[in-house]
Amino acid sequence: TKYVYRFGGGADDGGNGDKNLLGGKGANLDGMAAIGLPVPPGFTITTEMCTRYYVDGEVFPDSLREEVATGIAHIEGVTGKSFGDAADPLLVSVRSGARVSMPGMMDTVLNLGLNDQTVEGLAATSGDERFAWDSYRRFIQMYSDVVLELDHGAFEEALEIAKEDQGYHLDTELSAADWKALVGEYKKLVEQQWGKPFPQDVHDQLWGAIAAVFGSWQADRAKVYRRLNDIPGDWGTAVNVQAMVFGNMGDTSATGVAFTRDPSTGENTYYGEYLINAQGEDVVAGIRTPQYLTLAARERAGAKALSMEEAMPETYAELAKVFQILETHYRDMQDIEFTVQQGKLWMLQTRSGKRTAKAALKIAVDMAAEGLITEEEAVARVDPSALDQLLHPTLDPKAPRDVLTKGLPASPGAASGILVFDADTAEKRSELGDAVILVRIETSPEDIHGMHAAKGILTARGGMTSHAAVVARGMGRPCVSGAGSLAIDAKAKTLRVAGRELVEGDIITIDGATGEVMAGEVPTVQPELAGDFGTLMVWADKVRRLKVRANAETPLDCRTAREFGAEGVGLCRTEHMFFDAGRITSVRQMILADSEKGRREALAKLLPEQRSDFTEIFEVMAGLPVTIRLLDPPLHEFLPHEEVDFEEVAKAAGVGIETLKQRASELHEFNPMLGHRGCRLGVTYPEIYEMQARAIFEAAIDVADKTGEAPIPEVMIPLVATRRELELMKAIVDAQAQAVFAERGKTIEYLVGTMIELPRAALKAGEIAEVGEFFSFGTNDLTQTTIGISRDDAGRFLGSYVDKGIFPRDPFVSLDIEGVGELIQIAAERGRATRPGIKLGICGEHGGDPSSIAFCEQTGLDYVSASPYRVPIARLAAAQAAL
Ligand code: ADP
Ligand code: MG
Ligand code: MG
Repeated sequence: TKYVYRFGGGADDGGNGDKNLLGGKGANLDGMAAIGLPVPPGFTITTEMCTRYYVDGEVFPDSLREEVATGIAHIEGVTGKSFGDAADPLLVSVRSGARVSMPGMMDTVLNLGLNDQTVEGLAATSGDERFAWDSYRRFIQMYSDVVLELDHGAFEEALEIAKEDQGYHLDTELSAADWKALVGEYKKLVEQQWGKPFPQDVHDQLWGAIAAVFGSWQADRAKVYRRLNDIPGDWGTAVNVQAMVFGNMGDTSATGVAFTRDPSTGENTYYGEYLINAQGEDVVAGIRTPQYLTLAARERAGAKALSMEEAMPETYAELAKVFQILETHYRDMQDIEFTVQQGKLWMLQTRSGKRTAKAALKIAVDMAAEGLITEEEAVARVDPSALDQLLHPTLDPKAPRDVLTKGLPASPGAASGILVFDADTAEKRSELGDAVILVRIETSPEDIHGMHAAKGILTARGGMTSHAAVVARGMGRPCVSGAGSLAIDAKAKTLRVAGRELVEGDIITIDGATGEVMAGEVPTVQPELAGDFGTLMVWADKVRRLKVRANAETPLDCRTAREFGAEGVGLCRTEHMFFDAGRITSVRQMILADSEKGRREALAKLLPEQRSDFTEIFEVMAGLPVTIRLLDPPLHEFLPHEEVDFEEVAKAAGVGIETLKQRASELHEFNPMLGHRGCRLGVTYPEIYEMQARAIFEAAIDVADKTGEAPIPEVMIPLVATRRELELMKAIVDAQAQAVFAERGKTIEYLVGTMIELPRAALKAGEIAEVGEFFSFGTNDLTQTTIGISRDDAGRFLGSYVDKGIFPRDPFVSLDIEGVGELIQIAAERGRATRPGIKLGICGEHGGDPSSIAFCEQTGLDYVSASPYRVPIARLAAAQAAL
């Protein structure tokens, strides 16, 4: 197997920009070089090598040594320099690069190939001794940190002491001799901490770095990131070795990062930051404040430092041309790293840029309008889950704001929560149910789990392209970065700003759209659903086959659902209506009654209430199907649980307290989930379902009379296991329908069907479909009953189950396609066999989960039903599943 692929200088090893093989970074370096862009020459060691490295027990095959030697020879040939040559040394960077960009991987090592001899050669060939020794000390520092994993604090301290001794404030004040002296200090530090001298052999340096990149694939923080992002552990990372170019060779040199469109708003304008006379990571690390790329951005921000467009107009023009070429080539917004060495532009990276949901929408819609991509591609481009960000409220512009300070609007959305100062606390507090805002001086890959747990992220340092900003945008968390006036003391857990001190636990609000940081909680308003969102939804609806309904049980929910494009109600739970303050007493009287007669009296009081519930819902949903589930939970849920409430309840219901207590203890169940609930209630107390069915039909006819448009009630019987159960329940419903139709002299269309939420029902679906006119897969209960895991108790162990790969994801969030999914397929098949064309839907939590929706599409269900806010997500996911 070939493990090394060269790029640049006209090399073509046939990697063809394959991300799986070369990793994202390597693939695009290869791709850029192939279309003639200026890329420093280099080579990529494939992800397959990484996988083999672990299979073989962390050793390299001999063949790799030969291939790497050939790769180095390639770079030497193109640059005319030699690796390790004391006179004119070749320096390289060693860069990790998985298939997808992955914080948590090894940081890049720059300037590799410097040692006590080659540094002299670099000084001589560049004619700049200071540059050479500065590069050498950077190299030792980076190598010691990321490859040798020594304590980097000691190196920073040594630099600070050197500056203090000389009375300097800035790094730029250090002379060649100062850097040289510091290199001496650094080498001593390495020897102290590592027990060996800093490696002088450039090949040792190189292999050390290569092993460190592969080693970082199994680092804890990389594993955490993979788990959070569903990245398989066996993908591996590639290693890129590339000739160095220098942005730190004076004022005609620079380094920068840019996006071909604004990653925050999606606007079609270049967005970026650069630094003159700087190297590599200086821009993202937030050590110096970067300058704007474009004049327009600088003016908008009112910044003084010249933009690149002004400072280096020719190179900027060249760069702008490259942006165009890259967008046309990759047909997507690109995130780019470049370096200018003495006026010459070099491209160091390009990838599809991370963007906010708002930008993703706008870019997809704009690019389709520009003809760069098709409407269908635009639909495929937007991550349905990311829409969540747009569908949720933003800060009420009219609400008063107690603004503490302003930072950069790094990732939009607003969040309020308690202040926490470290990632572990963020995780802990959020597990306890607190909304938290994670506040850091700056974030690093070690903070990922805390950022994930937080509702919002606030940093004191770093620009729009800082780690915090990039990660937050990717996760859809609001983020304000670079709020420089925050004085954060992470140890003491305090934050001083604007003359005030806040401590851990204090509530703050951040607005990622404006960069404002506010004390206390600020109220929010509903999002705008027109514009790009509307356009994309129209395109999605064109390709979608699955219908999308909502789980909704109040008129308000129904209205929200319709606004979001729901095509019916897939699950209207009726028990919540029973809890309503005005009627819980009648419900309790019904439960406490000792005879059918007593129950009927109480139910008669409930009938008009229940009818008016349905009337309101039917009015909102006129003309659309509404699936109503008859009473499902065990009756004791309606009785008081606290001793203190007993007296009051007994009085209101008109029974003695002893009767109440006795009835409550009679109704007690050891396992209510599998107890007296669902159709089992209808079997024992048919009068309950009779009342509900009557209420449904009376309401439907009322609405038909009033609006001229009848709803289509789909009466759904819960927890059916056998054909006979459904037969009995259907008879009750049909009898009520006939009675109401006769009374009112009018009939309407309706269906009676069942939830499939027990394995027996799925297996006997053929028989059940002889009676039932539709199935709705109640995947919450079906998951519980199939796996035998109670959702309410699973929290304690499900995490370990996912960690250990027993389930790829929480089966209550993402359908267990192999197990529960097979039961659904069986039920669908057997149901269709007896009742061709039987209507099939899903109404569990999974109805709003994109990967579960893809399964529903494959299984040929008719609709999915999701909570109102997830309806647009489901519409888009359904469209993508159909593509
Ligand atoms: P990351 O994935 O963290 O961005 P990179 O490998 O892209 O890591 O490198 C980090 C920084 O170092 C970037 O700013 C990049 O432009 C710079 N860099 C990497 N390789 C070179 C090189 N050969 N010459 C100059 N700068 C480089
Ligand atoms: Mg990079
Ligand atoms: Mg259920």
